[in-house]
Amino acid sequence: METCSLPTPNRVDLGFDQPYRSLGSEFFSPVRPMGLPAPRLSLVSEDASRLLGLHLGSTHPETQQAWAELFSGTTLPAGCDPISTVYSGHQFGNWAGQLGDGRAHLLGELDAPDATQNCGHARWEVQLKGAGLTPYSRHGDGRAVLRSSIREFLCSEAMWHLGIPTTRALCLVTSSLPVARERMETAAVVTRLAPSFIRFGHFEHFSYSGRHAALRRLADWTIARIDPACADAANPVLALLQGVVARTARLMAQWQCVGFIHGVMNTDNMSMLGWTLDYGPFAFMDGFDPAHTPNTTDRSGRYAWGRQPAIARWNLLALAQALLPLIGDPRLAIDAVEAFEPQFSQAMRAQLQDKLGLGAPQGGDDALVDAWLAAMAENQADWTLSFRLLSPLSANPGSPIPEALQSLFATRPQRFHTWVAEYRQRLQQQGRADAERKLAMDLVNPRFVLRHHLAQDVIAQAEAGDFSATRELMAVLRHPYAEQPEHAAYAAAPPQDAEAPALSCSS
Ligand code: AMP
Ligand code: MG
Repeated sequence: METCSLPTPNRVDLGFDQPYRSLGSEFFSPVRPMGLPAPRLSLVSEDASRLLGLHLGSTHPETQQAWAELFSGTTLPAGCDPISTVYSGHQFGNWAGQLGDGRAHLLGELDAPDATQNCGHARWEVQLKGAGLTPYSRHGDGRAVLRSSIREFLCSEAMWHLGIPTTRALCLVTSSLPVARERMETAAVVTRLAPSFIRFGHFEHFSYSGRHAALRRLADWTIARIDPACADAANPVLALLQGVVARTARLMAQWQCVGFIHGVMNTDNMSMLGWTLDYGPFAFMDGFDPAHTPNTTDRSGRYAWGRQPAIARWNLLALAQALLPLIGDPRLAIDAVEAFEPQFSQAMRAQLQDKLGLGAPQGGDDALVDAWLAAMAENQADWTLSFRLLSPLSANPGSPIPEALQSLFATRPQRFHTWVAEYRQRLQQQGRADAERKLAMDLVNPRFVLRHHLAQDVIAQAEAGDFSATRELMAVLRHPYAEQPEHAAYAAAPPQDAEAPALSCSS
């Protein structure tokens, strides 16, 4: 059991710092959250609360109530002065001008009791999402509905357990406050944690409005917070950009390899940390279709699975452009972004190599991987199951192909069977025991991801007031690579009659 300091009942008067204020008033607005009427602490991530040395899972009713009041922004401890930050961004490839935290309040920062649990970051920013209007709400209501809040809560924790960098979700507070979307829904607040919520769009905001002194302050701040080694480089801001490029390339390879589609890769949703940020109309692919996007607003498929790496590069170019006044030589900035493609490809190839259990690369491996993906695509084979069910396949050409694997390729089996023969030949050259390879493959090919239909099921129950299914799903997603035979139903592809993920930006 990890150590954690247990708060005494009602002791939720956390000491939040607000160093972002030191950047100056043009970077934020002080905003009191509107809070929620009769807030209830409905979901807690014990893992995330331990990162802060807290124990939100206390069953003491008064303590629970105090957490609910705090993490809905209803009652704040003395000295907590929340802010909302300003940023801009490119949305769907077009300059959107000023955006900002339209429904996010930064409560402040808390120390991480153990920085090793926190990728080495010593502090966490604690942010409420959905706690009411801010000066950046534009036409929005400052709220987030229960449906989208559960999706964000579950997915950020699930991504973390997959080993993919992401903002964390501490807890979900609910209320009966009605919120109008396509239908009437109710409001919720997710508390998110990140070492920094700085987005590409924060830099675009100050650069494109010609405020270069502010841009410089933001760059210095970001370097000090997330990549202090850059300060020693000959061109610190160039080094910052190079770091973002490298982190984003790694992140894209990780997204691609688990079939994750973010859905809205606008520059204001891209984190300087290279962490997954802002869960909206995301999905994990069921049947493999590179052109798939769950976002119905994205008619051209700009943010489809197969385009995510190219879009990341496009976004990095927008960031490079924004940083140009500080970098100086455009050639340096362009070269930094040009490193994205080889870094992404190398990371993607290395991961696919592991996912197929191929061991050290050999000539012909890239073609073998591409042929596998082609066989998957022509069958629209389930992304997660295809990789996971490949691991029990024996290298022995005489042994049968497991039925569960074969059935994924039943529509157009020919290429698949040719591929299996080649794959087996390749495995035999490697000479690794089947069992050993299976073990290694199962460590990198998850059995459980947050499939759309699973999320829909638990959301329906939560909307009826029962969060037990959400908690059970969350428990399963904490161990995505384990077999968990008792939870086989959560590993299955969606039922034939399930609706395909079709999500709008409405959240
Ligand atoms: P998103 O598409 O969620 O990344 O949001 C883009 C911008 O719209 C950001 O500035 C958000 O803060 C803002 N926004 C989204 N939904 C709302 C809402 N319900 N109320 C206020 N602002 C919102
Ligand atoms: Mg956003």
